[in-house]
Amino acid sequence: MRLVLLGAPGCGKGTQGQLLAEQYRIPEISTGDLLRKAVAAGTPLGKAAKAVMDAGKLVSDEIVMGVIRERMQQPDTRQGFILDGFPRNLAQAEQLDELFEELGRPIDLAVLIEVEVDSILQRLLGRRTCVSCGASYNMFYAPPRMDDSCDECGGRLKRRSDDNEETIGNRLRIYETQTLPVVERYREQGRLRVIQGSGEIQDVFRALSKAVEEVRATLGSRDRSAAIRRAVARKQNTARGGSAAKAGGSGKAAKKAAAAPAAGKKKAAKKKVQAKKKVQAKKKTAGKKAAVSRKKAVAGKKVAKKKITKKKVSAKKVAKKKTVTKRKATARKAPVKKKAASKKKAAKKAARKKAAKKKPARKR
Ligand code: AMP
Repeated sequence: MRLVLLGAPGCGKGTQGQLLAEQYRIPEISTGDLLRKAVAAGTPLGKAAKAVMDAGKLVSDEIVMGVIRERMQQPDTRQGFILDGFPRNLAQAEQLDELFEELGRPIDLAVLIEVEVDSILQRLLGRRTCVSCGASYNMFYAPPRMDDSCDECGGRLKRRSDDNEETIGNRLRIYETQTLPVVERYREQGRLRVIQGSGEIQDVFRALSKAVEEVRATLGSRDRSAAIRRAVARKQNTARGGSAAKAGGSGKAAKKAAAAPAAGKKKAAKKKVQAKKKVQAKKKTAGKKAAVSRKKAVAGKKVAKKKITKKKVSAKKVAKKKTVTKRKATARKAPVKKKAASKKKAAKKAARKKAAKKKPARKR
């Protein structure tokens, strides 16, 4: 059973927690007690915490989480525990959930012990504790037979340094502003039970035990069904192992069959990953091909353009050449033409001369 006791300072968490611890044989872990021990031992942690505690303020989450983590390592917490005075704020509650998730030990139940403010003041101001055996008294309604000494062992009775009016005011304010949201958190999660803390210690304890027992019963059936599920799974695994042994006969085959579901799952996951990789590779090569063909197309276009401009240039060149050769040819033909013309002219002249010579003869 893993339990968190919540309530204002002086509501009786410590007293009820100890009674529950005896009943269920699990440790009661009070962060206040752990811190007070560190203060008394004068450890660095205790020195850091003392002034804060005397002022009725909260010690840093880091310090308190460290204390809790260390305590949870101890083997007596394996069967369960009762947390008293922790968590005190939302940050601690969240970190506690994370820690228990890590350890695989979630909180089963949170119980809020409700008490009127008036009786809280009476409880805290009258509270005395024996320094030798830890027995508690109240000077108003459960005083010792002799002032300042323990009825059980005669030890000295001491008042806590933070049980004075000013510090109590601070502690109550912090409870209202920082711890009540934690109560709401457990309520919302459906893990909260509320009991009345006014009245006789044994009456309160009866109410508390009843709440715990009810939850334990549901946890019992939950644990039982979990155990049944585990047993069925074990049987199925053995059956698979058995059939493999029948088929193959060897111990190795049986082991293989027992590991089959896990191996099957692994194989399927591997196949999935491989298929994904294949698709990705295909996509990659397709993309590359497309890019290459795009490049080729662009290059082809460029080449074609070049070819066209080349053709144009060569056509122009050819045309130019043609006109040049034409001109050259006409230039070459020109003197021949001139020669022919002058020859023609000379022939005409000669003919005219001949005719002139012939004419006078005819007159005669
Ligand atoms: P308690 O004995 O629970 O009343 O605690 C006494 C003082 O110890 C508180 O007033 C705080 O200064 C300190 N303390 C105890 N538990 C915590 C906690 N969970 N977080 C911070 N401070 C704490």
